[in-house]
Amino acid sequence: MALNGHLTFEKNEHAAKDFGNIYHFMPSVVLHPKSVSDISSTIKYIFEMGTSSELTVAARGHGHSLAGQAQAYQGVVINMESLREPEMSFHTGELSYVDVSAGELWINILHESLKRGLAPKSWTDYLHLTVGGTLSNAGISGQAFRHGPQINNVYQLQVVTGKGDVVTCSEELNTDLFYGVLGGLGQFGIITRARIALEPAPRMVKWIRALYSDFSIFSNDQERLISSEKSFDYIEGFVIINRTRLLTSWRSSFNPKYPLQASQFSSEGRILYCLEVAKYFNPDDSDLINQNIDTLLSELNYIQSTLFLSEVSYVDFLDRVHVSEIKLREKGLWEVPHPWINLLIPRSRIHEFAQEVFGNILADTSNGPVLIYPVNKSSWRNRTSMVTPDEDVFYLVAFLSSAIPSTTGKDALEYILTRNKRILRYCERSRLGVKQYLAHYSTQEEWKAHFGTHWEVFSRRKSTYDPLAILAPGQSIFQKAKAFRQQGPQR
Ligand SMILES: Cc1cc2nc3c(=O)[nH]c(=O)nc-3n(C[C@H](O)[C@H](O)[C@H](O)COP(=O)(O)OP(=O)(O)OC[C@H]3O[C@@H](n4cnc5c(N)ncnc54)[C@H](O)[C@@H]3O)c2cc1C
Repeated sequence: MALNGHLTFEKNEHAAKDFGNIYHFMPSVVLHPKSVSDISSTIKYIFEMGTSSELTVAARGHGHSLAGQAQAYQGVVINMESLREPEMSFHTGELSYVDVSAGELWINILHESLKRGLAPKSWTDYLHLTVGGTLSNAGISGQAFRHGPQINNVYQLQVVTGKGDVVTCSEELNTDLFYGVLGGLGQFGIITRARIALEPAPRMVKWIRALYSDFSIFSNDQERLISSEKSFDYIEGFVIINRTRLLTSWRSSFNPKYPLQASQFSSEGRILYCLEVAKYFNPDDSDLINQNIDTLLSELNYIQSTLFLSEVSYVDFLDRVHVSEIKLREKGLWEVPHPWINLLIPRSRIHEFAQEVFGNILADTSNGPVLIYPVNKSSWRNRTSMVTPDEDVFYLVAFLSSAIPSTTGKDALEYILTRNKRILRYCERSRLGVKQYLAHYSTQEEWKAHFGTHWEVFSRRKSTYDPLAILAPGQSIFQKAKAFRQQGPQR
């Protein structure tokens, strides 16, 4: 097979590792493509071998999956970051967009777009992820209540299917493949190129935090904010369990609005809920924006003494998690196991969920941030492969735990995994109508339950676009050839 890029057969350990750092499946070979034809000819070659071959193929973006989703046991891993075509190309006009390689990191797209005064509309909290990786899931952050997730903000894709065909698709062209691939967990094709919607970029951000001790008051305020047209530009929140000196730790990057009262605030061991919002602006509009923010804040019911504000550049705001990454790396706490779970919870059940999970199951420690914020389903494209709860508003609740290696007790991986199971069992027993995001299941039965009425379309798309089940074996949804069984996890 003639390639513009190259293959590596040794020293491929990185391809058996991901951010979750729990599952490790060793591939036989890693392809470092230089062109789309490297990807299509590799897949075509494997497709033509038919079921006599057990080879599968996983696209690996930045490898920030949690449970081996970008891995392929004894198969081929495609290192998407080495695909550098097309070069980023910008189009400005009524509809501004950028064409990028799917192996591009969002942080690079941000920097390049800003040179033209533009930026994508919808983000993830962390930008060192690839376009193909987040579009295969959804890409959800504090802008999603207004713009929908990242899969809403794409005009066109180029995809290599499981037969090796290179197909361009959009809302008008090869529509079924377009919607299938968005949120499609890599099952129907490898995204090689994406056309991403852009908007004029702001230069600065007013970034605000305020605390609540009552969950109902907190969630009412969040829901009110996401329902208003003239709201903030970013709306998230998080749960604080058993943290002392919390407000002191914020002072390095935020200023208290009422310093004296803030210094006297004590959490008294309560569970607290932090509203986190941001308003974008350009320096010339500062006065107007301040008035606007004062009006929005005056309608909220947070604990007055806990209002903290900060002013940062747009880049620093969007790239905020990278600052934590650098600090954690210095302490050796980045490359640890991350037994994360992400849940989408219908609005009507969020109160009972909060009471049981925050008040009882988590009780005294969360082992990392717990994010919680509502989004509007009306701003979600409803024909993509992603499944969401059946209500107009649902919450994203993300338990972003880190485990400490070689310990026992509450920081140990086994402890956190057991607690995660308790949370999931509670959701199931109480029939909350929860959907997992970035889900990891090991059987097709579980996936069928996950997709519910969407399963039929999902499996029909699989047999159309990847009939031999060559792609994304690490998701454990479909299996190639009868004789082949993917081995169990090797921790
Ligand atoms: C610190 C951190 C913060 C995060 N924050 C958020 C957040 O705020 N919001 C959010 O939505 N997610 C968030 N995520 C999750 C993230 O979106 C997913 O883990 C995503 O898959 C990571 O992208 P990646 O490029 O590393 O993909 P990978 O992990 O490499 O791949 C993910 C899946 O997509 C497939 N895939 C990869 N590239 C392609 C492609 N080009 N075509 C088809 N399939 C492909 C892989 O085979 C795999 O199944 C976060 C993750 C981390 C580690």
